[in-house]
Amino acid sequence: MINNILKNSFYQKIKGFKSYIVLIFLLIFSIIIVSIYDRFKSDQIKNLENIFQNIYLQKTIKSISSSLEPRFEKINYSINAGETFEGILNELKLGQNQINRVLNFISKKKIKLNLYANQKITFEIDNLNTKKIINITIPINKKKDLIISYNNEENSYYSLELNKELTLNRIYKENFIKNSLYKSAVDKKIDPNIIVQFAQIYGFEVDFQRDIRKNDSFQIVYEEFKNDENKTVDFGNILYANLILQGKSLELYYFKSEKDKISDHFESNGQSIKKTLMKTPINGARLSSGYGNRKHPILGYTKLHTGTDFAAPTGTPIMASGSGKILKAGWCGGGGNCVKIRHNSTYSTVYAHMSKFARGIKKGVRVTQGQIIGYVGSTGMSTGPHLHYEVIKNGKKINSQTLKLPSGKKLKGQNREDFELAKIKINVLKSELINKQN
Ligand SMILES: [Zn+2]
Repeated sequence: MINNILKNSFYQKIKGFKSYIVLIFLLIFSIIIVSIYDRFKSDQIKNLENIFQNIYLQKTIKSISSSLEPRFEKINYSINAGETFEGILNELKLGQNQINRVLNFISKKKIKLNLYANQKITFEIDNLNTKKIINITIPINKKKDLIISYNNEENSYYSLELNKELTLNRIYKENFIKNSLYKSAVDKKIDPNIIVQFAQIYGFEVDFQRDIRKNDSFQIVYEEFKNDENKTVDFGNILYANLILQGKSLELYYFKSEKDKISDHFESNGQSIKKTLMKTPINGARLSSGYGNRKHPILGYTKLHTGTDFAAPTGTPIMASGSGKILKAGWCGGGGNCVKIRHNSTYSTVYAHMSKFARGIKKGVRVTQGQIIGYVGSTGMSTGPHLHYEVIKNGKKINSQTLKLPSGKKLKGQNREDFELAKIKINVLKSELINKQN
């Protein structure tokens, strides 16, 4: 397509150039004539007039001036609410034939345009002879464009989806956790997507409601993608994370092996952070209570309390703390709307007081670790929105927060060697990013 444009404009230039040669030739010719008729002044003027009235010369001048008008035009069109594609094409003052050709192509190819207000469509138009659309660019989402293009040789349209050009940036951030992880991260302008990812990774090891203390802090290196307008359109991985709780670091490095389908966060010794069950089966980033909040301010604890309470706003997503099969998703009396999951022959978990269940969550359904099963509420015997979480081991309710689960997988052999290398690279990158900030 671009090739065609280049070829056409080159041809156009030659054509313009040819016209100039003719004009120069005619001028030289007129000078000769003028010099021949030098003695007859009146004839001389008449001759010049004749020359300029010459039809060929007039045509040449006209063609030169028309070729000086821009042949290719780019129009950035911002869609108004309720506008149709046909309406937009009419706005461009194209011939009806041209409008029909484009519309026919779209309906024949069953292209869904999904237009919305303020969407920016780019049209490239060839103004030679009759106006012709040679390119339409319609953004599909933040990462993709739909292109409808005219093929000069085949005299027909074709369409394709094109990935926008994105630039990968790596970012370092650190902060003390003053009230909640979420607030301290937002204060540093970390995107909520990254905060949720961070909380999810550490959710295996950390109870975000009880384990966070004053002066605890975090460090993070993550990837973000920007488009050509310098807008952040997507996020990549958290390459490095460190959660420093009471002076103790828990460093995690991202490691990927396509061959062995590994894409995870590992501790410095190559141990995966992932465990059978999560300690915080809730979007930890949204937990808003202060440090070391061992007691729910409203509920308090009774001697009979057999689970862990996480106070969080109504509607906060609740995750399956481990993979398994749903034993119950329904009303549990005092527990309100509750979900019970069987993970293996040893462990089951219970989630109570939900405001509602997630879509598709019912008895017999298999869920994967981290999958959203419901939302925080205050149903049943509850005085405020919270999640009541229980771990049952061999039929007995146990304290989920002191439960020692076997460590995750450890990298071995070639993967371990590759991980050590990846770790060095990440550490170098981190230092570079920190130096850049100072
Ligand atoms: Zn409870």
